[in-house]
Amino acid sequence: MPTPSPHAGSAAPQRFPVVVVGAGPAGLTVGNILRAAGVDCLVLETETREFIERRPRAGVIEEWAVGGLERRGLARTLLRRAQTHTECEFRFAGEGYRLAYTELTGRHHFFYPQQFLVTDLVREYADVRGGEIRFGVREVRLHGTESDRPSVSYVCPESGERHLVEADFVAGCDGARGVTRASLPAGRARIARHDYGVGWLALLAEAPPSSDCVVFGMHPRGFAGHMARGPEVTRYYLQCPPGDDPENWPHERVWAELRARLDAKGAPPLREGRLIEKRVLDMHGYVVEPMTFGRLFLAGDAAHLTAPIAAKGLNLALHDAFLLGDGLVASLTQGDDSALSGYSAACLARVWDYQEFSQWLAEVYHGTASGDAFRAGAALARLRRLFSSPVAAAEFAERYLGVRTTG
Ligand SMILES: Cc1cc2nc3c(=O)[nH]c(=O)nc-3n(C[C@H](O)[C@H](O)[C@H](O)COP(=O)(O)OP(=O)(O)OC[C@H]3O[C@@H](n4cnc5c(N)ncnc54)[C@H](O)[C@@H]3O)c2cc1C
Repeated sequence: MPTPSPHAGSAAPQRFPVVVVGAGPAGLTVGNILRAAGVDCLVLETETREFIERRPRAGVIEEWAVGGLERRGLARTLLRRAQTHTECEFRFAGEGYRLAYTELTGRHHFFYPQQFLVTDLVREYADVRGGEIRFGVREVRLHGTESDRPSVSYVCPESGERHLVEADFVAGCDGARGVTRASLPAGRARIARHDYGVGWLALLAEAPPSSDCVVFGMHPRGFAGHMARGPEVTRYYLQCPPGDDPENWPHERVWAELRARLDAKGAPPLREGRLIEKRVLDMHGYVVEPMTFGRLFLAGDAAHLTAPIAAKGLNLALHDAFLLGDGLVASLTQGDDSALSGYSAACLARVWDYQEFSQWLAEVYHGTASGDAFRAGAALARLRRLFSSPVAAAEFAERYLGVRTTG
């Protein structure tokens, strides 16, 4: 629920046309679009700049999303440094099968670690476009979001004082654990949730990649994934029970499982290294509908979480941010509210499409180890179809690469 305005005695209120809560890819992209149009905004972030510039997460960015960043002057460094991915490999029943999606569609994935993108976006927003950003804020609260005069308050890390910022609009871009989604008026949001019933042990290894492409291993012991994160760092995933303790996964056990689950005839041996990140993600997703409440607009993981099954979360965050940034500019500079009115529906079409694809792919990944012979048989049938039907392969490629857009 939105909280009442802070009591008297706080610092004098400030005013910005837009307050953006959260400096992830969504919030920083919105901020950059606003600044490029000369609209003032304030970005509030609970972490430090150093922390968000180093936080490793996603890496796969779809071509249309890079195009959207490029059109907004936000992809110069990315286009210089990103790698391109053109195929992926599925390993199952002791064999490896490559799916050359660029051959099938003419399109590819960009690979650029999320922390590099965040670094570029912060620099452009704060250092080049002169945007205001406050790091390390505490106890962020929203007030009056359904009124014409919403505001956001936070505790300043230096003074310990609560500051109030009034705004025309609030962009809730504070990710899955933020406060903006929790500020929705009770009973006004439908939150659809899906629990995949499995965990993934997310690992970062200080080791060069063991393949020149993304590898998915479907094995009776569980799913395993391999994704390069640079010449010296590789991300691996291991399916595990939800809520498992990462301490149950010492170095030797991790590498033994990865070797077993990613094994295939002719596959090169895994290049092992020190594990520098090890945490368990419970695979679930949610979608908030609608994504707008009065003058509060949710974007990215604040509005919808996609388990990292199909590498869609960052892409959805960027899609929302393009639409929200452009819509706010149209409203604030031309008085045209049409894009903001259609914002939620326009985002949700892609969100549901990507959620459905993730659900489909999750069954391919996890069916084999489900302990249910029917699910295992159906998962194998899906895999065989991918490599026997050109139409099925082309459809997978289309969906894995994401829907083309003009955004
Ligand atoms: C291990 C892992 C791997 C992933 N791999 C992929 C992938 O390959 N491809 C892909 O597309 N997606 C992937 N994702 C998902 C992707 O990282 C997210 O979807 C993406 O970060 C969403 O961006 P966002 O800006 O919405 O939220 P975030 O990146 O979460 O940014 C939100 C920001 O808000 C800040 N914040 C939180 N609370 C508050 C508050 N109260 N006040 C102010 N600020 C606050 C946070 O510190 C953060 O900086 C992965 C995620 C994980 C965890």
